[in-house]
Amino acid sequence: MHLSVDLADRRVLVIGSVRASRRVLARYRAEGARVERWDAGEPLLAELSAAARGLRPRVAVVAWVTGSAAYRARTTDTLEKSGGWLVDAAPAAERAVGHVSIVGGGPGDARLMTVAAREALAEADVVLYDRLGPHDDLAGWAPGAELIDVGKTPGHHAVPQHEIEALIVERARRGLDVVRLKGGDPFVFGRGGEEVRACREAGVVSTVIPGVTSAISVPAAAGIPVTHREVSRAFTVVSGHAPFSDEELTHLAGLGGTIVVLMGVNTLPHLTAGLQRVGMRADMPLAIVERGWSHSQRTTVSTVGGAIGLLAELAPRSPAVIVIGEVVRQAVCDDRTTTAIIADAVDSLGF
Ligand code: SAH
Repeated sequence: MHLSVDLADRRVLVIGSVRASRRVLARYRAEGARVERWDAGEPLLAELSAAARGLRPRVAVVAWVTGSAAYRARTTDTLEKSGGWLVDAAPAAERAVGHVSIVGGGPGDARLMTVAAREALAEADVVLYDRLGPHDDLAGWAPGAELIDVGKTPGHHAVPQHEIEALIVERARRGLDVVRLKGGDPFVFGRGGEEVRACREAGVVSTVIPGVTSAISVPAAAGIPVTHREVSRAFTVVSGHAPFSDEELTHLAGLGGTIVVLMGVNTLPHLTAGLQRVGMRADMPLAIVERGWSHSQRTTVSTVGGAIGLLAELAPRSPAVIVIGEVVRQAVCDDRTTTAIIADAVDSLGF
C-alpha cells in the first residue's frame, strides 16, 4: 500500500548521521516540510514523548536512516502514542567529495542575505558560522544541517583560522556540502580568500557567494552615502586593525574622498591624530556607526578633531564602522538609530 501525505509545513524528524541523512533531508525539504535531523539517542525519545503528550508541535513523520534495532523499537513505541509515522529511508550513497560555498551573509539583518546565500544554506549538510553573520534562525534556514559555531570575538579567535579551514576540508572530504557563512562580504577583510585557497589545495571545489558588505551598508543604515555627487567621488575601505604609517595616511587623506574604517574602534585615537598630522582639517566630519542594522544601532556624529574627547564618555564598541568625510553631513538619525549623539559637531556640521 502506498500512502501519500501532504508534508508542507509538517514536522519531520530524520534520524541518522549528517552523512547518511543527506539525501533524505533534501527530499523532505523539497516537499516543504519542517525538517530536523537527530542523531539516535535519548533526547529524541524525550522529544517524541513531549509530542505525544501534546507539549510540542506534533511530529508527522520520523524517517529512520540509521540506528540500532532495539532503539528503533523504542522509538516506534513512543511515536505511535504521538500519532506520527515511522518511515524507513535508505542512507545516502557515498560521495567522494562535497561542495563548499563561501557565503557572505550581509551585515546581520537576515533580510539582507542574498537569495543565493539562502539557497546554499537550504542545501547545506554543514554550516560553519560566527557572530558577525546572521545566525538567529540558522536551524530554519539550513534544516537538519550540522551547525558549527566557529565564533570569533575581537582579539580572541575561538577557532583558529587554520582549524576552520581544516574543518571545511574534512567535512567536504566526507562527501558533505559545506557552507562557510560569514559576515558582510567574504572577500572584504573576511579571510574568504584563504578559505578558497585551502579548498583548492585540498582538491575541493568551492564557490563564493558575495554578500552585502558592512563597509557600504552600515554607513547606509545611518543615512550616510559613501559617495555623493559633488561631495565625494571616491571611497577607500581600510582596516584599522593595525596602525597606518604617516606615508599611508598622507595618501589616504590626499585622495580627498570618503574613508571607511572597519575594525577601527581601538585604533581610532591613533588614526584621527595621524590624519590631522598629515594635514586633514580638524573639523572634517566623522561618524561612528555601531551594531549596524540591529535594534541597538547607535550613530555618533563628530569631527576628526573632536572624536577623541568623546571616547571615554561613549565607549564605542566593536562591531562598528567609522566614516570620515564630508558625506557624513548626510547622516540621518531615523527610528532605527536608537541613540543619535550629535556631539560637538552641531555648529560646525550644520545639524
Ligand atoms: N567581511 C565583512 C567585514 C569583516 S571585518 C564585511 O564585508 O562586512 C569585521 C568588521 O566589520 C567589524 O569590526 C566592523 O568594523 C565591521 N562590521 C561588520 N558588521 C557590522 C555591523 N553590523 N555593524 C557595524 N560594523 C560591522
